[in-house]
Amino acid sequence: MTGKPLYLNGKWVSTSDTLSVYDKATGELISDVSTLKRSQVATAISDAHEAYLSWRDRTAKNRGDYLRACADELLRRKKEIASIITKENGKPLAQSLGEVDVSADHLYWYSEEARRAYGRTIPHQMDNKRHLIIKSPIGVVGAISPWNFPLVLAVRKIAPALAAGCTVIIKPASYTPLSVLAFAECVDSSGVPAGVFQVVVGSAKEIGAEFTENHLCRKITFTGSTPVGQDLIRAAAQTVTPLSLELGGHAPVIVFADSNIELAVETVMVAKYRNNSQSCIAANRIFVQDSIYETFLESFVKRTKALKVGNGMDSETDIGPLVDGNAVKNALEQIDDATAKGARLMCGGLRLNDKENFLSPAVIADVPLNASCMKEESFAPIAPVCSFRTEDEVVSWANDSMFGLAAYVCTGDLNRMFRMGESLEAGTIGINDGAPTASHCPFGGTKQSGWGRELGSEGMDAFLETKHISIGAVHL
Ligand code: NAP
Repeated sequence: MTGKPLYLNGKWVSTSDTLSVYDKATGELISDVSTLKRSQVATAISDAHEAYLSWRDRTAKNRGDYLRACADELLRRKKEIASIITKENGKPLAQSLGEVDVSADHLYWYSEEARRAYGRTIPHQMDNKRHLIIKSPIGVVGAISPWNFPLVLAVRKIAPALAAGCTVIIKPASYTPLSVLAFAECVDSSGVPAGVFQVVVGSAKEIGAEFTENHLCRKITFTGSTPVGQDLIRAAAQTVTPLSLELGGHAPVIVFADSNIELAVETVMVAKYRNNSQSCIAANRIFVQDSIYETFLESFVKRTKALKVGNGMDSETDIGPLVDGNAVKNALEQIDDATAKGARLMCGGLRLNDKENFLSPAVIADVPLNASCMKEESFAPIAPVCSFRTEDEVVSWANDSMFGLAAYVCTGDLNRMFRMGESLEAGTIGINDGAPTASHCPFGGTKQSGWGRELGSEGMDAFLETKHISIGAVHL
């Protein structure tokens, strides 16, 4: 028996080696997906290189037309593809519908940005020379995406790379390959030439090794954990392949006494619980100024207790299943560690009886800074809260992390907004904004949260080489 086919060089290809994809809420098998051997990944790279030689020479407008057709098809199939996301990932359906919308927005935005890969001319310093700077596509891109936003984090790589004139081979996470395969159907129906976009599934180690060692793969873009990012850095050193890395996060939220408390609670609810709290920019450390600490906590606990845990396909559900039982086990260990160090468990923190990967959202108060949840990424609906006294104190706590992906601030003071924007060590800072990511604004991490930026014009720059053309013997 063969598995669900992969999209390779313009064809749908099935293999007899498969991996199984399960519904995260019910545990039922959704599909067996074909997997490739390393030699087949090498073939995909050769085909992508062949396709690149003509894709790069098309006009940016023409490439943008394909991206728009792809986005149109994605939106036409929005409900169906959102269901795939919810089943294989677990998030509530409303959020999956939003993920399809944002993915389409990325495609539309880069369909236009393709036309703005501007170079420049530089004033000459010698009479007989002229200098042009042009931007050229980097070549074949190997992309590796995670399971937590199975569609949008893949599209965030694919759209700018294709817009820039690169060809792309994507390896989705083994937990959630179906959203990217549904996207491949949209690419196929848009008429993108064979080899321009391909999907490979199989051993992550082997695919990663082929991407890093094959000299035709000219760029690797990865979203996932910091340890795997570090492995890729080591491997890519052999071929000096450039990397864009979107890695782990450990976002602080700082709620100042001058903020509107209900607005602040709303901001924290979004930053903490969106996507079943399995987001790299999820609020992980919640610092609240001492004079409003108890008031904030009361409201935040009340709102958290009201969240409904269940199957993401149920329209009532606020928090769906976590990716696996291990995610719940790690969260429970973090809660135990915090309470053993003196924190108060205010609500939740219970594994649901019959389901190993469902956890009721937990608020933990008075969490000391040395608790493991204040030091390590949680990736689960646990919300550690503690109080602070001064701005200087809380900025030093917030910056005391090897991660620097996102940070959030709730304040009504305009001067403080600027000070916080400048002093917090993070690539994205949401001020009174729990969902700060947008197609047109750069996104990425500082410190061990990554290299480079996705989205915005920076997101396309990641797939462009800057070339200087020096023209001599000019006689005007
Ligand atoms: P992960 O284990 O690093 O996996 C991410 C992707 O890398 C998957 O496709 C995985 O494939 C692949 N992979 C695993 N080992 C590999 C290897 N040796 N070589 C090449 N590829 C390899 O991360 P995850 O658990 O899926 O995702 C959670 C992490 O991602 C968190 O730390 C989170 O903060 C981070 N994240 C960051 C961002 C961001 O934008 N900065 C966004 C989302 C998530 P398999 O699935 O086949 O193992």
